[in-house]
Amino acid sequence: MILPLSGIAAVACSQADDSMPNIIYVFPDQFRISSLAYWDEPEYSQHVGWKADPVHTPNLDRFADESVVLSDAVSTCPLSSPHRGMFLTGMYPERNGVVLNCMALRPESTLNPEAVCISDVLKSAGYECGYIGKLHAETPMKNDPANPGHYVSDRDPEWDAYTPAERRHGFDWWYSYGTFDVHKDPHYWDTDGVRHDPEEYSVKHETDKAIEFLRNRNGERDASKPFFLVLAYNPPHSPYECLDDCMEEDYALYENMGYDELYVRPNADTTLSKAPSARYYFANVTGVDREFGRLLAEVKKLGLDKNTIVVFTSDHGETMCSQGTLDPKNSIYSESYSVPFMIRYPGKIRHRVDNTMLSSTDIMPTLLGLAGLEDMIPESVEGHDLSPVFLENGRECHVPTSTLYIRNLDGEKDKDGIVHGFFPVARGVQTDRYAMEIAIRRDGSLDRIMIFDNREDPYQMHNISWKDNPDLFASLCDALQDKLEEADDIWYREGILTGLLASMK
Ligand code: CA
Repeated sequence: MILPLSGIAAVACSQADDSMPNIIYVFPDQFRISSLAYWDEPEYSQHVGWKADPVHTPNLDRFADESVVLSDAVSTCPLSSPHRGMFLTGMYPERNGVVLNCMALRPESTLNPEAVCISDVLKSAGYECGYIGKLHAETPMKNDPANPGHYVSDRDPEWDAYTPAERRHGFDWWYSYGTFDVHKDPHYWDTDGVRHDPEEYSVKHETDKAIEFLRNRNGERDASKPFFLVLAYNPPHSPYECLDDCMEEDYALYENMGYDELYVRPNADTTLSKAPSARYYFANVTGVDREFGRLLAEVKKLGLDKNTIVVFTSDHGETMCSQGTLDPKNSIYSESYSVPFMIRYPGKIRHRVDNTMLSSTDIMPTLLGLAGLEDMIPESVEGHDLSPVFLENGRECHVPTSTLYIRNLDGEKDKDGIVHGFFPVARGVQTDRYAMEIAIRRDGSLDRIMIFDNREDPYQMHNISWKDNPDLFASLCDALQDKLEEADDIWYREGILTGLLASMK
């Protein structure tokens, strides 16, 4: 199958060039920005108003000291599949197709097979592309390679998925699955569709596979080409309830800590049923840190460190008892909406903390820009190439002054429980100071408005009254409307925000 690469500039660029950097993109699931110990060091803490979680992340701390570290990167729709769709395509959910978390009852929410992905572009630029770990950007289909005509398991509804070769978007080396949450009994389908059940901690196993790809002893890749490797760990995603969910050596670091030590955020409610999870969550943070450190050591040992861009980020955060909610994600609360984002590119990007407001849709064009492929950014991309900010190369670029927030719910369900369409329940905006979310009811009427002053109230404990602060509210609505228009969002196209404002007068 030949994917229509419409919008990709016809650049004769099939041969690898010595100057083309490799790219390693690592993104564990649900890894919140505050779960990085370096944020309590003075160099970093002066850029944020919150404290770091009491975590052990020595490898990520060292990596931060060599990277540009973003303090204000966000997950536009802080939920697994929608973020992944945006990362892969640079398009908002309504364009790339992934508007809801992918599962069998939501067949319409799936990555558009025609969408041009970052891996399609990099492959056409001469890269070898490999994907390891969780994909979760496609609806499960009845295409189990070992049992054609059936889903990959008999769970109902099915969440996990197998991605056949023709839907891998330029990733020619494959070791992945859809979504599956058993951290010490993971499974994967390889390039040839063969299933593997390694029965070991997934983060370790996936790092071993990444190291195999780097070492290239069995022809994993064409060594004459640069490579793009995505490593999508599932931890520290739930479950986080017992020693089946993490490594014992990591849990031991947190085992004897009380809630007063584990929970440093004053907005955390440790009476919630989830409170014991922090120890297991932090254990997985440390597990990710250790394996990421092992990966970096191998990159260096193989002499790949100089010409390899390494990114560490996450698909969204984790509330972990903050804001009184048991939902770890899918909210504009900073624990969910903010994400870690670090870029190391030796000799090209200098180490610093940077407050550039990078969104999920900016990742693809920015990575292409970092690799010197800005001319190949597809016209379908809706985000912005922010690479000139990081490379400091004098090239002009759009510098965001706000970020969009999106939350969707299931649309109508038919008699079989199949979801059709989606309901755009909330939209929001974050500026360099404020965060605002506006939510509506199914009948379109106003449900609630939340406004937080992130500078004066970094834990978002005081909802600012929109009625008592009409000028602030108006300016945030203007910023939101601008972002909705830029995204050609349904709230813009159907006049939802303007209609709400008119009804409130
Ligand atoms: Ca996720």
